[in-house]
Amino acid sequence: MSAEAVAANSAIPPLPAFDGRAIINGLRVAAADGQVFDCVSPVDGRVLTQVARCGLMDVNEAVANARATFESRRWSGMAPAQRKRIMIKFAEQIQAHADELALTETLDMGKPIQYAKGVDVNSAANCIRWYGEAVDKIYDEIAPTPRTALALITREPVGVVGIIVPWNYPMIMAAWKIAPALAAGNSVVLKPSEKSPLTALRLAELALAAGMPPGVFNVVPGYGPEAGSPLALHMDVDCIAFTGSTRVGKQIHVMAGQSNLKRAWTELGGKSPNIVFADCPNLDKAVAAAVGSIFFNQGESCNAPSRLFVEESIKDAFLEKALALVPGYQPANPLDKSTVMGAIVDRVQLGAVMRYIETGQAEGARLLTGGQAVEPVAGGCYVQPTIFDGVTNQMAIAREEIFGPVLSVLSFTDAADVVRQANDSVYGLNAAVWTRDINKAHGVARALRAGTVHVNQYDEDDITVPFGGFKQSGVGRDKSLHAFDKYTETKTTWIRIDSPV
Ligand code: NAD
Repeated sequence: MSAEAVAANSAIPPLPAFDGRAIINGLRVAAADGQVFDCVSPVDGRVLTQVARCGLMDVNEAVANARATFESRRWSGMAPAQRKRIMIKFAEQIQAHADELALTETLDMGKPIQYAKGVDVNSAANCIRWYGEAVDKIYDEIAPTPRTALALITREPVGVVGIIVPWNYPMIMAAWKIAPALAAGNSVVLKPSEKSPLTALRLAELALAAGMPPGVFNVVPGYGPEAGSPLALHMDVDCIAFTGSTRVGKQIHVMAGQSNLKRAWTELGGKSPNIVFADCPNLDKAVAAAVGSIFFNQGESCNAPSRLFVEESIKDAFLEKALALVPGYQPANPLDKSTVMGAIVDRVQLGAVMRYIETGQAEGARLLTGGQAVEPVAGGCYVQPTIFDGVTNQMAIAREEIFGPVLSVLSFTDAADVVRQANDSVYGLNAAVWTRDINKAHGVARALRAGTVHVNQYDEDDITVPFGGFKQSGVGRDKSLHAFDKYTETKTTWIRIDSPV
């Protein structure tokens, strides 16, 4: 982008000084071979900074430090109450740097700044605090064995945890994994997405500022095949936790099997069905949720309700109301505090979304609104909110994850028909049912093959509940106390009791 064009975007403030170097053993370091890549903002196309392009040597160095720190027991052997205090201070550091982190996230991946601060920063801090608070409240078990022996069932940290995350909620996706992994006493090597590496690097600095020992939380930015694969293949990584596409998630499980059979946990794609029956208790609420949830985060949400099933008898009325809401979601400069839809993460993703829009039209779906790339900020990546009607479940726009602001509208005749269509997908992440009939609500919710089912809403979320998918939406669950299962081994210790009484 030219200097004149940058100057013309006067709404964009002077940039903070970003540091794109890796963090290994508590220190900022360049990639061992000195390679860097440009970190480009989708807001206006400007280069924010250069980032260390880590590779095998850097991953080896980070894992060696993580291992040495784990073995030193500086963190893994720390009293739980003390580990808790540091985790809570870490959360406070995030909150204290909320403005800086939100601005960085918005510039790096394009989401509206009001959500970067109000949702992403708050959720990440809350997640880290919640797992920190849990550390000294979880008890181990004693098994009900005969009196001649005592069997202790204890949880132990797995050791070195490799974490690979995507770009759509960079801080939250990292927090969902680092928080339980760190709270359980593990050492971590995090590889953020090459499309959004900046906040992960700051998180590691804020953990150090909170008193976390160096070497516990390392960050190696870089490309997937160059920095992610060496982590997934590493013989001294005990667990790999991945969030991203189903395509790469499958490779992660293969790499775990090809190397040391490390535990592999994957949170993958979705094509979530949102089912509205004619007896929906509040049509306006259902319309607002359907439209708001698919366009939130520019449609770049794994759990976006991208397949909308509306019972035939109310479909026309539903779509009329939905179209009336679309003008409120036009993309705009994400740095403007009133913006609700920002930029698509980069030109590659923008191209992918536009190809799906072309495919939908070629397959015979009816474009009701949107469908164009626009430039509310010169040089940026933006797509209009887009709705297709007349979609069938066999079309690519109903089967494949678009990861953009594109809603596919389908119809159905009865509960059996819609459950069959909704479950006819390789994915099983989220789903929703709207009906005033309690039997229908429970029956359909039970029949849907999805990790989370919403009834008469789509926006409830809390750190206390597990999140993850059935089928090819992944293996394992983030959030809640269940997440500790991923980052701990269960050990049984038998103690012989030769009682004198
Ligand atoms: P992606 O799979 O392309 O990349 C995810 C991460 O994997 C990135 O850090 C990338 O560098 C890395 N990677 C890529 N190739 C790799 C390889 N060969 N070896 C190791 N690492 C590699 O996904 P994305 O485009 O960044 O993110 C979008 C996807 O993430 C969507 O499919 C979305 O549904 C999914 N997602 C799922 C959840 C969930 O909780 N289920 C949450 C958010 C996003």
